[in-house]
Amino acid sequence: MEYIFGLEFIYLVASVTYIIGLKMLGHPETARRGNLIAAAGMTLAILGTIFLYQGEVPTFIYILIGVAIVIGTIIGWLKAKRVQMTAMPELVSLFNGMGGASAALIGLIEFEHYHGQTLSIVTILGGIIIGSISFSGSMIAYGKLNGTFNKPIRLPKYNLINNVLLLGLFVFAGYIAWTHSESQLFLYLIFFAALAYGILFVVPIGGADMPVVISLLNSFTGLAAALGGFLYGNMVMLTGGILVGSAGTILTFAMCKAMNRPLSNVIFGGFGDKDTTAAEGGSKVTGSIKKATVSDVAILMNYSQKVIIVPGYGLAVAQAQHAIHELEQILESKGVQVKYAIHPVAGRMPGHMNVLLAETNVEYDKLAEMEDVNPEFNSTDVVFVVGANDVVNPAAHNDPSSPIYGMPILDAENAKQIIVNKRTMKPGYAGIDNELFYNQKTSMLFGDAKGVIQELINELKGM
Ligand code: NDP
Repeated sequence: MEYIFGLEFIYLVASVTYIIGLKMLGHPETARRGNLIAAAGMTLAILGTIFLYQGEVPTFIYILIGVAIVIGTIIGWLKAKRVQMTAMPELVSLFNGMGGASAALIGLIEFEHYHGQTLSIVTILGGIIIGSISFSGSMIAYGKLNGTFNKPIRLPKYNLINNVLLLGLFVFAGYIAWTHSESQLFLYLIFFAALAYGILFVVPIGGADMPVVISLLNSFTGLAAALGGFLYGNMVMLTGGILVGSAGTILTFAMCKAMNRPLSNVIFGGFGDKDTTAAEGGSKVTGSIKKATVSDVAILMNYSQKVIIVPGYGLAVAQAQHAIHELEQILESKGVQVKYAIHPVAGRMPGHMNVLLAETNVEYDKLAEMEDVNPEFNSTDVVFVVGANDVVNPAAHNDPSSPIYGMPILDAENAKQIIVNKRTMKPGYAGIDNELFYNQKTSMLFGDAKGVIQELINELKGM
């Protein structure tokens, strides 16, 4: 692309907005503004590219670009506006897939313009392969998350088939670049094989592992976009791609670390897949449990000085976020200090609990991260575990045979009294028993989180 000062300056400004936006996304209080700043930068970059580009562009192409922008904006806006909080991961997956598809399409179109230029052809083929894998993989992830394909499909020897296909893809791409082949047939073979790989890569993975996979595919999309930026010498595309790629990679590894599982186990293993049950390993917990009634718990909380709420996946399932916020406010009005203990992988997507509670305008300083809150459980009168299970399972500390052994957990067991709300004694995502439920200090408060919390509120109001 020709060097145009005004455009380069706009790209610089846009790149800076991405960096600032990404930084601001790191905290709930600034996240919304950060998103808007980065989106403004992106709009600026798009408008700059359209209006300041000085090459020959037929009017018809401008019309096409305009129509595409209008259609894309309307669909994106409506989708984002209407999405339920619980459907957020699938929306991210859909949008991410579109990014991958765009990167792949750039490669398909530009291939014939770079014949004989080995580095550019390698870049183009890389963009096609990675972008296509990201597109088809994201579409399967989307289908899994919205329940269309709720069962992992495993071909016999699927890991071997996948690895051979991936290796074949790169060898074939190397052949095209090495021989300076101009064959469109070869190009489309690479494209369709990469699409097939994306499907085969994601179909065997269990539905609950999808957030990790989406984050990985997100980093692929970033990489594919960065390759496009490298091809065109377009700095804003390169910066944006690198930021998305590195943020996605960091998030992928952060999630794996918080789940204490190597990435290879997410991709090749069957954890989180209810058919094969992850609960292989881990000692069977025996003993008796104590049941509590709503009024027992209301009295206990009413006379406490400090209550810590541990929200988990069940809170999201029950859509009990507004109820828990109301409970928190009532307790605070009675002089009880209340906090939420947030585990990094509580729920089913990164930041799930933060997003859920932010919807109800819970004050951000009431949300305490695991490392900060763990030392506080000792001095806590009541810990109220609502729809959480794995993230408070002491087997992570005590049972080397447990699949979650070594996973950092919230030390709820250290509180003076533990109240656990869930519907049954069924295990959580990891499919393993939880000895916390059998602890002397624990009382089980069975029932749907929303109903139970509402009853607690009513009880407390009467005190
Ligand atoms: P868990 O899945 O361990 O436990 C959730 C509990 O909620 C269940 O035991 C269930 O018990 C209960 N529950 C479900 N519905 C309701 C309801 N309506 N009312 C009350 N309780 C309910 O969730 P955690 O949040 O503790 O842990 C998250 C798990 O997910 C971890 O293992 C983590 O590694 C994994 N994970 C997290 C990801 C992320 O990005 N956050 C991504 C992938 C996996 P019952 O059925 O008896 O009610």
